[in-house]
Amino acid sequence: VEAEFIEWLRDRVAASSAVLTGIGDDAAIIRLPGPLAVLTSDMLMDGVDFELESADMRRIGRKALAVNLSDVAAMACRPVAAVISLALPLSRARWYAEEFYAGLLPLAEKYSVAVAGGDTNTWNGPFVVNITLLGTPPQAGPALRSGGQVGDEILVTGEFGGSILGRHFDFEPRVAEAIWLREHEEVHAAIDVSDGLSLDLFRLAAASSCGAEIDLSQIPISAAAHELAEGSESSGSALDHALSDGEDFELVLAVEAESAARLVSSQPLSVPLTRIGRLVAEPGLWQISPGNPRAPLKPRGWEY
Ligand SMILES: [Mg+2]
Repeated sequence: VEAEFIEWLRDRVAASSAVLTGIGDDAAIIRLPGPLAVLTSDMLMDGVDFELESADMRRIGRKALAVNLSDVAAMACRPVAAVISLALPLSRARWYAEEFYAGLLPLAEKYSVAVAGGDTNTWNGPFVVNITLLGTPPQAGPALRSGGQVGDEILVTGEFGGSILGRHFDFEPRVAEAIWLREHEEVHAAIDVSDGLSLDLFRLAAASSCGAEIDLSQIPISAAAHELAEGSESSGSALDHALSDGEDFELVLAVEAESAARLVSSQPLSVPLTRIGRLVAEPGLWQISPGNPRAPLKPRGWEY
């Protein structure tokens, strides 16, 4: 892509004290506040993750960064800088690129993410974007999937299900919430829900060498999940949607019991925290509901 576009982009990218050398040299130079960095990468492809014909390129630009922010949030880390690579269809390449960045840059600014570089290519193929995001852990260190302990309560942010109706584009990554929780309470493990609440919870529990027991009556079900369930007889219940739809990009946290009780009663975040179950010694996923014996629950969600 022509030098003129690089100029166009450089004029729009916010300056950051973390970036000593950004767009314009052969590589970026980043200053990190500590010895550890977290690094994550996510690719979105036309025809797989969205249909460009019916999607809005600004929303795709926002989402491409937001999914990476959600992964950094799932480590309870602070995002610092991103490198962004685009493969643009030859026809309308410049317009697509400008629309993409018009969607992405406001979110980058909101979360203080420096756009430090990347690559912008054109080809006779579909639109593809890859973003690699660099972050740094808080004082308490990054939260891993594997830190959960038997007896931890399982807390979630927000609501689940039906993201296909719009929230999969417009969700807010839980960056500030995750860092606050990690710094103030005993958060042992975390994951963000990209593929489905039951599946991602199962992954956290398995990584922690535990099982998880979910109280089905406590799952926060979104209005969109109800809408989907009522819209079609074949689509399953609102609870099914909440357990398996995916792309909620909410946090699932394994929290020490006293910390969890304090968080649920004080609700310190701008998004609700709900207790949906606990980690148990028996491996696998278990469902409990009022008046019923405990039974296995099959983890469901999006699997590649
Ligand atoms: Mg993730």
